[in-house]
Amino acid sequence: MSNIKKCAGKESLQRMNYLLQLANQLITQNKSSYIASLQYTNLMINISKKAVQRLDIDIKRNTCKGCRSILIPGITSKIRIKKKKMNVHCLNCSTLKIFEVKNPDYLPWSQKNESLVEIINYTPHR
Ligand SMILES: [Zn+2]
Repeated sequence: MSNIKKCAGKESLQRMNYLLQLANQLITQNKSSYIASLQYTNLMINISKKAVQRLDIDIKRNTCKGCRSILIPGITSKIRIKKKKMNVHCLNCSTLKIFEVKNPDYLPWSQKNESLVEIINYTPHR
């Protein structure tokens, strides 16, 4: 018996991670490869829906709900802070995301220490 725990949906998580990195790399290197980047993020979201895997809050906040492109400030999005609210404006489809910034010490639940139950090391021991 091995003590290595199995990760549910490991292949889909690895694939989503790869697609996100690829989309980010494409759009930051060359803005003309916007459509390829858009297709990779679209595929990543479709995989997460099919495999019922939640995306991390940072990934979710940095993808556009309208056109599903990656929102990178200065390249694909414009960020303004007005009246203690952060307005993230997609430059491709003009969709607006609004986040409250009233409390600067605010952390999402997934980034708090109490949300961490167990750290599992998936690398096989040799
Ligand atoms: Zn958009």
